[in-house]
Amino acid sequence: MMQIYRPLNFIGFVYREIRQGLTDIEQMFQLLDQDAEIEDKPNAKPIKVTGPVLKFNNVKFHYDSNREILKGIDFEVPAGKTIAVVGPSGAGKSTISRLIYRFYDVIEGSVEIDGQDVRDVTQKSLRTAVGMVPQDTVLFNDTIEYNIRYGRPDASDEEVREAARLAQISDFIESLPDGFNTQVGERGLKLSGGEKQRVAIARTILKSPPILILDEATSALDTQTEQEIQSALDAVAQDRTTLVIAHRLSTVVNADEIIVLRDGKIAERGNHEGLLAQDGLYAQMWNRQREVDEAGERLRKARETA
Ligand code: ATP
Repeated sequence: MMQIYRPLNFIGFVYREIRQGLTDIEQMFQLLDQDAEIEDKPNAKPIKVTGPVLKFNNVKFHYDSNREILKGIDFEVPAGKTIAVVGPSGAGKSTISRLIYRFYDVIEGSVEIDGQDVRDVTQKSLRTAVGMVPQDTVLFNDTIEYNIRYGRPDASDEEVREAARLAQISDFIESLPDGFNTQVGERGLKLSGGEKQRVAIARTILKSPPILILDEATSALDTQTEQEIQSALDAVAQDRTTLVIAHRLSTVVNADEIIVLRDGKIAERGNHEGLLAQDGLYAQMWNRQREVDEAGERLRKARETA
């Protein structure tokens, strides 16, 4: 029996290794693919950020020429302020973050950081100046420590731990038998969406970029996780030029300005109170979300008492 089992076991091992290898290669190609479309200009210079202002000047964009996604978007995030972009699903919110990071180039208009067009600077320097906490974080198949330190490889152990504390993930990490040395990713501990996002926030806190893009998770998180993530995000956004791509409205109440996107255009803009007073699309979205939240809460309470 053992004679058959050993080779089968070995084949299983080889299969798993090859499959994992393929996953890594796939991820690598995805990254390369995104970079391959966009090239640095021959005379591109590193970006210089002294006053981190982010500006969209009449930005037009499409993925396919027969369907315009952004139809002339103008806004400015002043240094140290937080602007939130909200709007119905598919309105083009995440597309805005992709244009800042230059995964794609605008078709018309420009995206500027501190007066420099993102197309004129090196992508390497742009990605150092801009920190992105994406919707879905892909973790490296390595330790939690490695995944956080990736934000700034020369950070001290103390700084890594402080970043984890600010991101509200250190209690969780310390509760694991191997703590910061726990292997995560495909081959290790599978983290929940909320935990992965907090690792990404810790990484970004360590990187400490002058400009920050927070692309919120679309999926509904439970209230406790959402509150923990919110306070982690508040810690990282403090005094930093921040653009929040908000798929839920609860997180935008304190933004300096809220931009409401509809059909590729800015339909409304203002702060939370001002937009509620306008009684337009934002007010509608806000009331609808409150109803959904209240229904969810009633359901949760009913389940608890059942
Ligand atoms: P949600 O809140 O649902 O995440 P969103 O407002 O962030 O939506 P985007 O992700 O910016 O929306 O997408 C805007 C539109 O562009 C959508 O209709 C989407 O189908 C389309 N789109 C997004 N990425 C691509 C792509 N790579 N190729 C073609 N179309 C795309």
